[in-house]
Amino acid sequence: MCGIVGFINQESVVKSLIAGLTALQHRGQDAAGIVTYDQKLHEKKGKGLVQQIFQTSDLDRLAGTLGIGHVRYTTQGTNEIKNIQPIALHYPFGVAMAHNGNVTNAHVIQRELSETYHIHPESNNDLELILYTFVAALQEIATTTAFSPKEILQAIAVTQQKIEGAYATIGLIAGVGLIGFCDPSGIRPMVLGKKETEKGITYSLVSETTCFDYLDYTCIDYIQPGEMILIEEDGTIHRQIGIQKKQHFCIFEFIYFARDESSFFAHLVAEQRIKMGHLLAKKLKAQQLTPNIVIDVPASGYFAAAGLASALGVPHRRGLVSNKYFGRSFILSNQSERAKVVQQKFNCISSIVANQKVAVVDDSIVRGTTSRHIVQLLRSAGAKAVYFVSAAPPIIHPCIYGIDISISTELIATQQTPNEIQQYIEADALIYQDLTELQDLFKTMDIDLCTACLSGEYPTPNAAEATQRIEQERLRNKS
Ligand code: 5GP
Ligand code: MG
Repeated sequence: MCGIVGFINQESVVKSLIAGLTALQHRGQDAAGIVTYDQKLHEKKGKGLVQQIFQTSDLDRLAGTLGIGHVRYTTQGTNEIKNIQPIALHYPFGVAMAHNGNVTNAHVIQRELSETYHIHPESNNDLELILYTFVAALQEIATTTAFSPKEILQAIAVTQQKIEGAYATIGLIAGVGLIGFCDPSGIRPMVLGKKETEKGITYSLVSETTCFDYLDYTCIDYIQPGEMILIEEDGTIHRQIGIQKKQHFCIFEFIYFARDESSFFAHLVAEQRIKMGHLLAKKLKAQQLTPNIVIDVPASGYFAAAGLASALGVPHRRGLVSNKYFGRSFILSNQSERAKVVQQKFNCISSIVANQKVAVVDDSIVRGTTSRHIVQLLRSAGAKAVYFVSAAPPIIHPCIYGIDISISTELIATQQTPNEIQQYIEADALIYQDLTELQDLFKTMDIDLCTACLSGEYPTPNAAEATQRIEQERLRNKS
């Protein structure tokens, strides 16, 4: 998963870009980049966290009233400088793009670009494929170099027609403005905001509404599946549907990815997590499990735990603490490294859990590294019983849309039954969320979800073949 931000018509966009990317840091910590436009394109990219990459000295250099930025979480491709987004081109016209998602027909696009246009992408980053497909389409469609809004939107629709997979994409075109578009199923999130200033209205496209809270923007809309947006430098805004299919919004945004205070389609993420906790309470009751306390695995298990505790009528306590300065365990390439990081990341407050029957809630179980360690921690702190509760149903199928769960042999629920997993993590009970209950919950909100990792139902074409190819490529890049 990655985070994207774009601003247009602010006196200087660089500070907003940095603030927006910092608000989206949870979506990717491997690398970040910014491209602004002011007569020419200015760029800065680096590995690591936003606050480490951008220095005071960059503020003047990244000049302009139009700019885009990206935080990267590596899923496809490797974490090399050339793969860091946004990617800017100076020819045949000034353009830069960044995306959140994953292209599932990369090999087809690569072939077309090289055979038809003699374009040979430099990086192994999908974004370059989207960018060149768009550039080639616009070159073919446009009658002059002064691109009209209609030509730009047509070129985006051609891009949507060719590129398969998940992509929330933002871009800037020199002398024109800010563009944004989503894949036909709307798998990845993008929201549109605005702010009234003395000099007029400024617009912004970002992954999550949390950015707007920090920057005093108002969220005006959630980008629809297949929607295309162009905001010109004079503030004229064009919105149109390009290629649209049934919505399949990523369920993992609600389960894990998005920040608690963000909203999608006017539904607060924290609130949905609380409701997931309510659903889990029904399952505990059905199994006659009676914990004395509920605790969460920080930080993403918090609201589901709160919902579970309130529905059960037992206290929600802070039994676990996590060291937030610790690196991420999730994307390390080998299991013993991951286990080591998880061990150093979490600690337990013994006096809270000792002699208690503890229900411990995490957002999800992927490889079982975290859950196994947490159960051990709680037991050695004297917990009488440990019920492990996952707000997500079993993750059985690889994600080909940009979450780093693309290798099926790494998914514990693909390899083992819930009973075997319970034994492996050494819990007294293991409670998973029910997929149909979860789907019903979102149906009441009128949101159709991508549940591919849980149900195996992939919304894009040729998914079985794409799954195999992406898995192989990921294994190669990790080794
Ligand atoms: P496990 O330890 O079972 O492999 O993974 C589950 C843990 O990883 C949970 O605590 C969950 O919060 C976290 N998690 C789930 N998906 C992702 C992801 O895509 N990236 C990162 N960094 N963590 C994740
Ligand atoms: Mg976690």
